Amino acid sequence: MIIIMKTGTERDVITPVIERIQELGLQAHPIIGEGQAIVGVVGLPLPPSLDEMFEVMPGVERVVRVSKKYKLAGWDFHPQKTVIRIDDVAIGGDEVTIIAGPCSVESEEQTMDSARAVKALGAKLLRGGAYKPRTSPYEFRGMGVKGLEILAKAREETGLKIITEVMTPSDVEVVGQFTDIFQIGARNCQNYLLLEEVGKATKPVMLKRGLSLLIEEWLLAAEYVMAQGNPNVILCERGIRTFENATRNTLDVSAVPVLQSMSHLPVFIDPSHAAGKRPLVGALALAGVAAGADGLMIEVHPNPDLAMSDGAQSLDFDEFAALMPKISAVAEAVGRSLPIATGVAI
Ligand code: PEP
Ligand code: MN
Repeated sequence: MIIIMKTGTERDVITPVIERIQELGLQAHPIIGEGQAIVGVVGLPLPPSLDEMFEVMPGVERVVRVSKKYKLAGWDFHPQKTVIRIDDVAIGGDEVTIIAGPCSVESEEQTMDSARAVKALGAKLLRGGAYKPRTSPYEFRGMGVKGLEILAKAREETGLKIITEVMTPSDVEVVGQFTDIFQIGARNCQNYLLLEEVGKATKPVMLKRGLSLLIEEWLLAAEYVMAQGNPNVILCERGIRTFENATRNTLDVSAVPVLQSMSHLPVFIDPSHAAGKRPLVGALALAGVAAGADGLMIEVHPNPDLAMSDGAQSLDFDEFAALMPKISAVAEAVGRSLPIATGVAI
């Protein structure tokens, strides 16, 4: 923090400012020139109310914050990139991580078929919602605990890790008994009580970007999780609201390098919810990896036309099989890797 003194302020007016900084256990670094003076304040923690405290002191022109509001998510105090390990899966390392599966868990058969197919094609995690945030209350809202049990069964059979959405603080405990990663949906990205509840849990959290959230607000949402003691947050860009309606949302590809310049947390792209339309999903997936995403989350369904949610944006197994080698090639081209099996029967 830098305190800028008013032009012409005398030293005897600057001294109380320096003393106040020292009384607070912080270091004061004054630079006093001809008629101009600034005082640097260094030390942690800098309470949020500090700005106002100094702004009203005699001789103070204004106070400028230099350090970021997002302390835990930012690079300043964490110079290494975060790599989240779940057994043999490393998220945020050299390898691009693919999460795939249906929008919703609809039945055991649909989930098991999806799990086997995406596993054979190189995905490391299975996605599937058991609690679904639907825009209309009259749409399918998920199978609840039964859905979680089906996901756990798919993990047992395939070895895939699982990720599923938790919508409310009171469900964190039950979802945590089944899932490997908590998914916080776009609609709940600023549900601070939910963020704090998953922050108290030990499993990683994927935080999807809110529909109209600024990147700094998103990082502050991640900060809510991290401030409770859970450092393992993955950020997932899934498209934002813009004036454009040719796609369901507008994929903000620039969020990938922007986030990576601001934060050490892994960044994913969800091309499915951004596109809203199956034929566009592949291009957005490739764009995400080209931009440097650490992973993708893609909706894949055995029969998208019959899906109970988001069928129009879900790939079938053949489409997913055709996309994976392309993702792998783009990953290689940008210095990452994505090992995929070739010639697998699905
Ligand atoms: C989903 O992943 O199925 C989902 C509901 O996504 P979002 O929260 O990004 O809309
Ligand atoms: Mn969906």
